Amino acid sequence: MSTCSRRNLFKLAGAGSLALLLPVSSRFGSAFAQEKLDPENAQAKALGYVHDTNAVDEGKWSSHSADQNCANCQLAQNNEGEWIGCSIFPNKLVNANGWCSAWVQAQG
Ligand code: SF4
Repeated sequence: MSTCSRRNLFKLAGAGSLALLLPVSSRFGSAFAQEKLDPENAQAKALGYVHDTNAVDEGKWSSHSADQNCANCQLAQNNEGEWIGCSIFPNKLVNANGWCSAWVQAQG
């Protein structure tokens, strides 16, 4: 077996291993993503996260306005349905009508 064909064999083996790992990691990702973010979570509290944008303490979070919510935030992920992903809170779900002080207007 030449060096070249051995190298190709290793490449194929590596690609096959990666293909086997991807569905597993995807399954773990979706399993973790099922958990809803607890507003009492330390990071959630620090950012003023609430499940309902209308419940934001306007005195404390003066940048907030009622038209801001997780569904129209740039940091939301897979934002379809009532509970959606958020890049600030990995592996947690936030309410589409929720809000935190990291809110950024979604583009487009
Ligand atoms: S960063 Fe955006 S999507 Fe995430 S919790 Fe805050 S407002 Fe919601």
